[in-house]
Amino acid sequence: MNKYIAPPFRIKMIESIKMTTLEERKLKLKEAGYNPFSLRSEDVYIDLLTDSGTGAMSQNQWAALMVGDEAYAGSKSFFKLEEVVKKITGYQFVIPAHQGRGAEQVVLPLLMKEKGMYYISNTHFDTTRAHVEIAGGRAVDIVIDECFDTEQNHPFKGNFDLERLEKFIKEKGPSQIAGIIMTITNNSAGGQPVSMENMREVKKIADKYKIKTLIDGARYAENAYFIKQREKGYENKTISEIVKEVLSYADIFLMSAKKDGLVNIGGLIAIKDDFDFYQKCRTYIVPWEGFPTYGGLAGRDMEALAVGLEEALEETYLQHRIDQVRFLGEKLLEAGVPIQYPIGGHAVFVDCKKICPHIPYFEFPAQAVCNELYLEAGVRAVEIGSFLLGRNPDTGENLESPLEFMRLTIPRRTYTNEHLAYVAEAVINVYKRRETIKGFDFEYEPPVLRHFTARLKPL
Ligand SMILES: *Cc1c(COP(=O)(O)O)cnc(C)c1O
Repeated sequence: MNKYIAPPFRIKMIESIKMTTLEERKLKLKEAGYNPFSLRSEDVYIDLLTDSGTGAMSQNQWAALMVGDEAYAGSKSFFKLEEVVKKITGYQFVIPAHQGRGAEQVVLPLLMKEKGMYYISNTHFDTTRAHVEIAGGRAVDIVIDECFDTEQNHPFKGNFDLERLEKFIKEKGPSQIAGIIMTITNNSAGGQPVSMENMREVKKIADKYKIKTLIDGARYAENAYFIKQREKGYENKTISEIVKEVLSYADIFLMSAKKDGLVNIGGLIAIKDDFDFYQKCRTYIVPWEGFPTYGGLAGRDMEALAVGLEEALEETYLQHRIDQVRFLGEKLLEAGVPIQYPIGGHAVFVDCKKICPHIPYFEFPAQAVCNELYLEAGVRAVEIGSFLLGRNPDTGENLESPLEFMRLTIPRRTYTNEHLAYVAEAVINVYKRRETIKGFDFEYEPPVLRHFTARLKPL
């Protein structure tokens, strides 16, 4: 067996990318206010900012676009999508959304009977947290401690801490909990999977206190692959069988289809069997997203999604996907670069607190490493640390993130391992001169979600 599987596809269309000179990159980065979010993608050689909507579609998906039925109501393409989602999930009701946050905006307020109620997650994704808070709720993360130790080996670092979960429910009272959100894989914790056993136990606790469970399933297929690889008793199950069992532990499935839907835009709400709740969602999707048979998507988008959902459950696809991430991660590990271990599903998370202990959190060590990587090789990564975290709303102080990550996010079916070998070499070069890297301060700081549009200056 080879250590990494060769791509289970051939490339039949290409998009050219262009290398820049160091002088050009220095200028572009300065113009971008030392914030890679403000770079133009054409000035980036290899773009590892995100895996959201950045993957390549298959020939079958491109072909499906042509048969999209652009009807406002009762589109044929909707019924095709509905059939596929019902088959995969075993759920009764399906509503499309323009992307994951559109689904969140409709569903999350509807489970809150009053303001101030809690959602509990292993880790809320940032838009999920935002929609809980906009609706007047409180978002609480209860993940196992191993998650915060990047060197500790644990097969399912995305797991809920079950003891603390139950304790929290008892403390606040079950009537104060709007829902439990299982984020699979746990995006913010480094694409770390959640085990079947953990989800089964979460469901037991939820049933005991009559609380609804939701799956935030942007990367549910990748999570299923990890269960097959790492959890006893699942070695011989198919990915589809694993997915069915996972979904049996939830009442509602929310999905950003820009990840494991293998499309550039799209989202989903699926509801197991609660017809009344489905009716409510159907009502509220109209002003937010659109009529319930398109939810902000064109018929062609729904066609491409119907195909993509099935392709993402193919085991060879998943093996190649996860192998690519592991390929990059292992190259870095071999060179001694500290990363979140074990390597997760969609990205390699480089531990910049360890790389730049001389840069304090309020000078954003991971942002500094991202900028250095762009200068080194035209590679765009993203900071997941104190720069992203923001300030304490009461005191105005910069919050200190427990982890300072540079995330190297791998788009699906887009780059070859040659690209990733090039990225690894660049990261290793930056690592070698780590002592020379300096921190940043604000030139302009927006009041909310500052990491997207802030401008920085080197110290
Ligand atoms: C991307 C993502 C979302 C939000 O979805 P969008 O399609 O970006 O709106 C929600 N939850 C998780 C876990 C995600 O990764």
